[in-house]
Formats: sequence, C-alpha cells, structure tokens
Amino acid sequence: MRINNSMEKFIETVFSNKSSLYSILDNYEERTEQRDMAKSVYQALKENCRLFVEAGTGVGKSLAYLLPVSLWAKENNKKVLISTYTKILQNQLIKKDILILKEILRLTRPDNNNEINCAVIFGQENYICRRRLASVLNHGLFDTPYEFAELEEFQKWLDNNGSGIIPEYPKTLSRLSEKISRDGDNCKFKKCQHYDNCYYFRARNEWFKADLLITNHFLFLANVEAGYMILPKFDAVVFDEAHRLEEVAANFFGFDIYNFGIHRLLNSIHNPMANSGLLAHIETSNATQRDIDKLISDAHQTVDGMFTQFRNLIPIQDSKLRIKRPPPIENSIDSIFVSLITSLLESKKENLDDDLDLEMKSLIKRLELYRKGISNFLEADDKNSVYWVESNTLTHRKTPIIFLKSALIDIAELFKKKVAEKFQSIIFTSATLTVGKDFSFIKDRLGLNDAKTQLLQSPFDYGKQALLFVPTELPMPTEEKKFYQNCALMIDKILTFSKGRALALFTSYDSLQKTYDLVDKSKFEFLIQGQESTFELLDKFKTDISSVLFATQSFWQGIDVPGEALSCLIIVRLPFDVPDDPRLEGICEQLRKKEQEPFSTFQLPNAVLRFRQGFGRLIRNKKDRGVVCVLDKRIVTRDYGKSFIYSLPKNLPMTFSIEAIRDFFATD
Ligand code: SF4
Repeated sequence: MRINNSMEKFIETVFSNKSSLYSILDNYEERTEQRDMAKSVYQALKENCRLFVEAGTGVGKSLAYLLPVSLWAKENNKKVLISTYTKILQNQLIKKDILILKEILRLTRPDNNNEINCAVIFGQENYICRRRLASVLNHGLFDTPYEFAELEEFQKWLDNNGSGIIPEYPKTLSRLSEKISRDGDNCKFKKCQHYDNCYYFRARNEWFKADLLITNHFLFLANVEAGYMILPKFDAVVFDEAHRLEEVAANFFGFDIYNFGIHRLLNSIHNPMANSGLLAHIETSNATQRDIDKLISDAHQTVDGMFTQFRNLIPIQDSKLRIKRPPPIENSIDSIFVSLITSLLESKKENLDDDLDLEMKSLIKRLELYRKGISNFLEADDKNSVYWVESNTLTHRKTPIIFLKSALIDIAELFKKKVAEKFQSIIFTSATLTVGKDFSFIKDRLGLNDAKTQLLQSPFDYGKQALLFVPTELPMPTEEKKFYQNCALMIDKILTFSKGRALALFTSYDSLQKTYDLVDKSKFEFLIQGQESTFELLDKFKTDISSVLFATQSFWQGIDVPGEALSCLIIVRLPFDVPDDPRLEGICEQLRKKEQEPFSTFQLPNAVLRFRQGFGRLIRNKKDRGVVCVLDKRIVTRDYGKSFIYSLPKNLPMTFSIEAIRDFFATD
C-alpha cells in the first residue's frame, strides 16, 4: 500500500528546504536521510510492519520518528510507546525534541486538532507514596537522625510544588527513598485516603490521555512481564537505542541477588543493635521479639556462611565464575527464611495499624522472593539461562559484595512471542544496528528475520572531517606487557599532536589502569572514569578543552561531546567480550549445538557493533573534526579486521603514519 499522498507531501515539506524547522532551529539543515526515515516510519505504521532503521550520527532520527508517529497516532486515534535505553536520550526527547515537534505541528497544522499529548513514564519506585511518607513521619520509621533531617528537607521541596517524582528532586536521596516511594505490594489503591492526590495515580491518569508514551527498555519489559498491566494499552512501539534491547532483556529475565541486599532487608525488619527496622515500631511480646531477633541473627550468619561458600568457588578474587550445574552448597537459608516468615506472620497483631501491616506484608514478600531466587540459583537448571557468582571487593567494606546472577542466553523466542506478536507495528532504531551494512545479526538475535530494514548513512563528510590512524608497529594486544608499554608511548605522541583533547576507550578497567600508570601525565590533565561521577567527569572534560579522558564500558556509547574537547578518539583494543564472560560462554555453546560458528556469528558482529558505537563518539556535528586512532593492529592484520573497517564510513581516510595526525591538526 502506498502511503497517504497528502501525508507523504506533508512529511516531505517538513523535512525540506521550505521547512518550518528553519524558523524553529537556528542551525537546521535539510537532510534527505531524515526525510527518508520519516517517510519509512510512517509507511511502516500504515502497513503494520516491523522496521529496523539504522540512522547514522547526524541524521536527526528522533524527529524523523516523532513526527510520523504523532501524525499516525492522531489520524487513527492510537497510542504509541517510545522506549529508550539511556536517561540521556529520554531527557533529550522530553526537553528538546518533543518541544520542537509540538512547534512544527503548531506552525503547520494549527487548525487540525493536532496538539500532541506526551507523557513520560518512570518506574513506580520513582514516585513518592504520600501514605508511606506520612507513615514514616507518624511512626518515626527512621533508622538514623540523618534520615529525619533529610525527610524534613524533602518535605519542604514537596510543599513548594515539588513534583513528587524522586529523580526531579535536586538532591540525591539516601536509602530513605525506599521507605517513601511507591511499592505496588504496599499500595491501598482506591481505599487510600491520598488516592485522589496520589503522585503515582495522578501521573497514571495522564498516561491514559497521552498520544505518545515515553519510557525505558527496562520498564517496557517489566510491563511485558506483568502481562501488559502496568502501562496503558498502546498500539505501536518505537525502540530507540534498539542495539541494547537484547542485553537488557537477557538480564531483565534473569536475576541478581547479593549478600548486602539480603542483610539490608533483614535489618529493615529489625536491627536490635540500632533499634531500627519495622519491628522497632510494632508492639510485640518480649518472647516473640526475642524469637524473631534470634531468627534474624541466624539468617544474617547463614547468609554470610553461604555467600562465603559461593565466593570460595571463585578461583580469582573480583571475577566471575559460571555455575554450570548445581553447586555443592547446602541451602541452609531456606528453612531459616521459612521460619522467619512464619514467625512474622504469627506475630502480626489483629489490630495492627493498616500502614504498618502493609509494610510488613511487603517485607515478607521480599523475603520470599530472595528465598525462591537462592533456590533457583542452587538448582541452576534452566537450559536457556546462564548462572554465575561474581565478587567485588570495595575498599570501604570489610567483606566483599557477592552476587548470584543469571541471564537468558537467547531472548529471540521470548521476544517474538511476548512482544513482537503483540504489536503490528514496531520500529527499531539506532545509529548502529548493522554489521557490514547488514541487519541479519540484530534481526536474528531478536527473532525477527522477516522485518523490513532501512540503512541511512550519516550526512557528515568523514572524508574531510575525520582521519583513521592505525599504528601497525605496535605489538599485538596478546603480548600484554609489551602492548601496554608501547601503547602508552604511542598515546604520549598522539596527545602531543592532538594537544590533548582526547578520549581513550578501553575494554576493561584493568587495561585502563595499566596504560594510565605508564603514560606521561605532566602535560595534560587526565580524567579517569570511576574517580568522579559520569556527569562531573564529562563536565570537566568538556570545559577543560585540553584534558584527556580515560574511560571504559558505558563511555563507548551514549556520550555526546561535540566540539574541540573531543578531537581525538583512541580505541586501545578491538572491543571483543572477554572469552570467559558467562553469558558469552552460554551463547557460544548454544551456537555450537546449532552447528554455527560462535566467532563469526556472535563474537565478531557483537564487537563490530560496539566498535561502531565507540567510533560514533568522534564526529557529532558538521563542524566537528577529529582523528580516531585504533591501537589494535588486528584491524588491518587479521582477516576479520575487514568487518570493522567495512563498518566505518566509506570515505573515511586511513593512515599508518603518525605524522598524518600532525598534518591533520595543523589545518585547525
Ligand atoms: S494510592 Fe497507593 S501509592 Fe498512592 S499514596 Fe496511596 S498507597 Fe501510596
């Protein structure tokens, strides 16, 4: 079916040189890619299609889907959900793109009842529960005097028209937020005296009126798991940052239990030493209190004992160990938790205050979830899951944090059944969905091989704006010691030519540290991921133009530093997953069973996608110029290196000579 002609014309006009966008945005430039994407998205919605659109950096993909989605929603009285991975993008949509969209519609279709209604949806724990907050105050449910002072200040914010949404509070709340935020198990719904004025339900009412709902992948999946009961019914979905969907789903449908989480839960029932926790505010007989305290104390000890056994399974501290079969550890927590739950239920007085009763029920439910989670972990019997133990020693804690985790190996079937088959139209978009210009990898991982695709190149002129440098004289990354020594020397030289202004991306914190120890730190300010919050680090990096940022993991994607501060991007190693990563191991095993070769079918495409994400940090607008230095020579010496090179912009010039960097920056 062809798309409605008048609508097609309208979309073309909006993204043309006659566009009203010129009067809205100072630096708007017409982009054919943006127009093509908008038309395809509209068409996919009209034709009930699933569409994957890769839109290179600079296409302006947010507006390219927001406009057609809004037109379609209005035309057909439908609701569309937009899901992102990062808060950064969610904020950009709310604070910038939606406002531009509204302005376009106001200027171009003023008589058409086209005002778009958008609602942002946060997880329930982000909303203040007025009843729980009143209960904390009435019953004095504070664990420390600091919490009391903190709540007083927070209350002032609420009284001063604070939104009741915790992330909008200008300060960071401590664990107090767990006591005053909404908890579905602890909600009285219409029976609550605060219902008409409830922050959560007031927001929820807005969700039902909205044409566009904006949320994140995690909450989207929580809604799927809850049988689509959390969010209002919607008719189509746009997944932005769709390249992260598989990973989020794999972890979402697994679990994550850690020793300190259980200790905290036990303390929130009762901590006799601090006389805090719920039981400190409930009258019970001395004998009952003693019995429960004894069980809590036994539970603390048993948790420590069991988690120490889990940790002892890991041969190297601060690493991960995959659990392939039930570990030889007795489940000593189960019976204590059952006794504790029974005692708590028996201790409940008939005339217990309603609010405290709800708090108690919620704590019991969480105990039960931990009990079941640990049991599942010890059985480790789901063939489509991987299980592992992970430890993390923090300098400020005496005992390490020990995690019991699981994740799904393959989400394709689940995603197809629980998501794809529920909606006729789904749009998946990102700047990086293809490997070697081919969508097969992501389509296969999400189980959507019959989906349509559209590949839109970045409008940037990489031939003039960028340069790729590969120093082939460096040792192979496999010769670890020599590699890092030579990398450090090479980085020193690169930074001299680039005058700092560089982001160096590493594949692990260990390699970051090894290189940092060896580089010359006398000429530039070095910023290191982990030493400050991401926000502060990025702020310093942008402000102190010559500074050099060493980062790993999350900095490979999502960060946006246009301008001079990021003129040089250094990719130290090709970003292959570490071979002993539990989920990677599970995926490789599964692929081998299907007689597929894991390296070419998973490890390589996955690394190429991450590499492209990293590369995308360099050029953020048409004025940016910069050099990308890949210190891992396998990109040109190994056969598979072609997959990385071929995934970069076609006209990107490549050099093996460091002098070319000097020449490149000499024309600044
Ligand atoms: S309705 Fe539920 S979430 Fe809202 S204030 Fe009452 S108990 Fe809290």
